[in-house]
Amino acid sequence: MNSKMQGLNSLKKGLLVSRVLRRSRESSVAVALLTLSLVVAERASGSTYRRAVEEGVVAALTPERDLLLEAQPHRGEGMLGFALRFCGQRAAMERISKANGDTTRLLVGVSYRIPFSSLRPEWQLRVVRALFGRDYTAASGWYHEIGGRSTYGKESLWHVAEWFTGRGDNYRAIRLENGLPEDELTPGQAVLIPARLLRPALRAALPPDSAYYIEYQEDEEGEYAVYGLKPGEALYSSVVVRFTGRVFADDVNALAGVIAGRSGIDRVTAIPIGYKVKIPFELLEPEFLPANHPRRREYEAGLEASSRYRNSVTARRLSGVTVILDSGHGGSDVGASVGDVWESVYVYDVMVRVMELLEAETAAVVKPTMRDGPIHLVADTDVLPTSRQHTVLTSPRYLVEDSTVGLHLRWYLANSLMRQARKKAGDSEKVVFLSIHADSLHPSLRGGMAYIPGARYGKDSYGREGLVYASRREVREEPRVTFSGEDLLKSEGLSRDLAESLIHAFDARGLAIHPDKPVREKIVREHSEWLPAVLRYNAVPSKVLLEICNLSNSKDLELIQTRAFRQNVAEAIVDGIIAYYGAAGGPESLWVSTSAR
Ligand SMILES: [Zn+2]
Repeated sequence: MNSKMQGLNSLKKGLLVSRVLRRSRESSVAVALLTLSLVVAERASGSTYRRAVEEGVVAALTPERDLLLEAQPHRGEGMLGFALRFCGQRAAMERISKANGDTTRLLVGVSYRIPFSSLRPEWQLRVVRALFGRDYTAASGWYHEIGGRSTYGKESLWHVAEWFTGRGDNYRAIRLENGLPEDELTPGQAVLIPARLLRPALRAALPPDSAYYIEYQEDEEGEYAVYGLKPGEALYSSVVVRFTGRVFADDVNALAGVIAGRSGIDRVTAIPIGYKVKIPFELLEPEFLPANHPRRREYEAGLEASSRYRNSVTARRLSGVTVILDSGHGGSDVGASVGDVWESVYVYDVMVRVMELLEAETAAVVKPTMRDGPIHLVADTDVLPTSRQHTVLTSPRYLVEDSTVGLHLRWYLANSLMRQARKKAGDSEKVVFLSIHADSLHPSLRGGMAYIPGARYGKDSYGREGLVYASRREVREEPRVTFSGEDLLKSEGLSRDLAESLIHAFDARGLAIHPDKPVREKIVREHSEWLPAVLRYNAVPSKVLLEICNLSNSKDLELIQTRAFRQNVAEAIVDGIIAYYGAAGGPESLWVSTSAR
């Protein structure tokens, strides 16, 4: 009953959102929610669908559309052994116990439920294979055949996204990839889940011609992954950027050298197609390590912990929502620059465009952290004049002369604005923080990328001292910010939702996004990993640092010097924020019938 009501409410909100977004040709949220009018009243029904995996182990799909493994303990196997066999970690004992009525003792001959997300990757793959026997893989990703009622009941795009990517909100990206109209899914229809979005466990099943296909080997120098270069691929973009997560030019070039050396390549510009490139384990991003590698397990445990937190707040026309908008750098700190194209100046113009759109078309309260000159003004030229007049809007304001001070004052200001908003709305989940930047990365990369606060890079307590800080009201209100472990996990989960909404909105508007990992939990540079300060000390739970393009890429550099591009980015950002507060009804709000036609 509750979930049905939620679905209906989301639907109504969706209709209103569509009016707000009339100007935008492609409002994915409105489309998503409109689809559901026919079907929202239908509920999941029927019984659990089961398929044997092996003796004593069954894959199950519940009427609530949850994937499970049901398994019997071996004779003499206790909870710990059982948890390790299926989940690979002690911590899973608690989750297994909870999923089975708080049982702590296992009985032989009895089947116990294990939540899908707690399973070791190889078991996740076996569950999906067993349940969805007609699915197949290709270089581009996983093709899932939509089942009819008679097999495992109705499926929504939300559930397909949840099962195959680990996040229901990826339904937007899947719809875009498949060019699906607002209409429903049809039994027998194959839906492609792109390789980039797949859970690592399922990505491992992609065929050798996939861009993510790697094998593991070992020699006297240690363990490594092997990747065969495909036609048209370069070592930089297709190996270093994809598998090591490095994006800065110096890093990419240095690692390309290391990998070339390890692989016996003399000239990186003349590598034959199919050449087996060796990537040492220590350079791999955790999701590309073998499933049982400690670093991968730690990474996946972190993802699972933060994914328990999803945005559940909807807001019609962003009513009651406060959007804190920040533009990177400013004043004496120009950020990335190519000649007279200063990041600080161009991203400020995008920020003002977002402000204007939000104020004109939504009910959101907009709070900028920066201003250039006496008022916020959208530029009426493509190429922008340089300026060093950016001030942080603290009380009193701060003309950015020292970039470190400018940076720290921003999060103090954001935290103060959040306290005010929370006092009014009583809800910190109705506040988002967005810092707009433009990158300076390896020139082969282009497009949008979002940084979110990975919980493991957070801090428990932090504050700045000195007159420049103490003289600001926002600092005096709360000189030190503190975070609990749960705050950090929650912020990672919510921020990932927001980031995915923003990235999808870029994609939907034809704006470039990073091909491999457009949402990242940390910055990696040289040998360290960290969070930008504006996210790290920021107490707003939903926060993203958005890189709108890469100034070192000639195409992006040309684009940012046009009003059309900056306006398109601003509109995508507004789409993304609206989607974040629009599609939060969960699976029921996206319920797609297979029997309504
Ligand atoms: Zn920047």
